[in-house]
Amino acid sequence: MKLVVTEIPEEGLNLTISGDGRWLRTFFSPREKEETVRVRDSFSVEVRISRVDEVIRVAGCAKIPVELRCVRCNEWFISEVDVEVKSEFHPLSEWVARGKEEIELKASEMEMEFYSSRVIDIDEVVAESIFLSLPSYPVCTDDCKGLCARCGANLNKGKCQCSADQPVDDWKKALEDLRSKLKIK
Ligand SMILES: [Zn+2]
Ligand SMILES: [Zn+2]
Repeated sequence: MKLVVTEIPEEGLNLTISGDGRWLRTFFSPREKEETVRVRDSFSVEVRISRVDEVIRVAGCAKIPVELRCVRCNEWFISEVDVEVKSEFHPLSEWVARGKEEIELKASEMEMEFYSSRVIDIDEVVAESIFLSLPSYPVCTDDCKGLCARCGANLNKGKCQCSADQPVDDWKKALEDLRSKLKIK
């Protein structure tokens, strides 16, 4: 939803932004995250829009259901992402007149952005917040054992056939092979 800055009432607005994975991809192509995150179910984010003169604040939070792929064991698991929207929009003219640093001091904990066309795309603000909340290194459980480095078995499902001392032997053998290749005596 796009809002014209001057049409935002002084008392503010409450909006519900709804979307799903397909909706998210219309804003971004999170290529580096597609392998580890799937947003399938629809979700909605309640946001509060407030305005003081030309400064617009967008704030809200939501829990979004996602499927994440564990970076250790490679299995998909169901989770929830906590999304917090907190953006403050200043007119670009203010930035030009006063400098970014001075405005940043006032903006405190809000994500600061600038608008130039008097229109703010709230959908984009929400989508961006969701994107930023997605974990880069999801792990299914804190004690996930991951995959065996030799045979690739999921060690959460039990021990694999590789015995504990084999990797060391392999390592020694690899070092010997390398030595002979490099002709180190
Ligand atoms: Zn795992
Ligand atoms: Zn193994």
